[in-house]
Amino acid sequence: MNALEISQLKKVYKGQVEALKGIDLTVVEGDFFALLGPNGAGKSTTIGILTALVNKTSGQVKVFGHDLDSELELAKAHIGLVPQEFNFNQFETVQQIVVNQAGYYGVERKVAIERSETYLKQTDLWEKRNTPARNLSGGMKRRLMIARAMMHQPKLLILDEPTAGVDIEIRRSMWKFLQEINQSGVTIILTTHYLEEAESLCRNIAIIDQGLIIENTSMKALLGKL
Ligand code: ADP
Ligand code: ADP
Repeated sequence: MNALEISQLKKVYKGQVEALKGIDLTVVEGDFFALLGPNGAGKSTTIGILTALVNKTSGQVKVFGHDLDSELELAKAHIGLVPQEFNFNQFETVQQIVVNQAGYYGVERKVAIERSETYLKQTDLWEKRNTPARNLSGGMKRRLMIARAMMHQPKLLILDEPTAGVDIEIRRSMWKFLQEINQSGVTIILTTHYLEEAESLCRNIAIIDQGLIIENTSMKALLGKL
């Protein structure tokens, strides 16, 4: 089963920026996949389309076989998103944030509270469950975003530049958590402009530049070429 199938995806923004010029991409279930590219390449646009925050101009996207056009709700149920910017209520506690998120996906409150223990422990935030988010360190806030994205138990976790601007120690600890999540069977796609990050984590990689996929291969094969 493919976690993601993208074919001939195009996006032209209003000001006539051709952000995606027809990309094809397949990510197999269980993969840890990097979408690598410089600023402006089209990474955020791609993720925006996958998560239905950006309308595509043309092309097809399937998430675990569900077409975004005809089966949007089923597709969305499979996706957990970790956006680039902190977008939680800073005054809520860690546990409130993750439990409320599950509520948006229709998870029963009692189940959500039980489940929050699993994901807050997995991201090393359980001790902080009653702390308002504004009092967390930057690294903890990033981990909170990961725990929150897992609360409806998506089969595909998508992270947009998960470690942009964080120091190397925090980056390494986030990598460890992401690897554990991947080992538990969740497919992961992340965007990054650090080759080092892709290299440390990912099995397969696509390189995007100016709205085109210019390389799509295994990490091993890519490193052999460099
Ligand atoms: P990233 O950090 O992912 O490269 P950007 O800094 O390019 O993202 O963009 C940040 C936000 O501004 C995004 O929501 C993007 O959609 C929007 N944006 C980027 N470029 C433009 C543009 N030329 N016109 C309008 N909005 C833009
Ligand atoms: P990346 O995430 O790789 O930095 P983006 O997907 O943010 O790239 O941007 C791809 C291109 O689309 C850039 O030229 C950017 O300026 C443009 N763009 C992004 N968002 C918008 C928007 N909302 N309106 C117009 N142009 C945009």
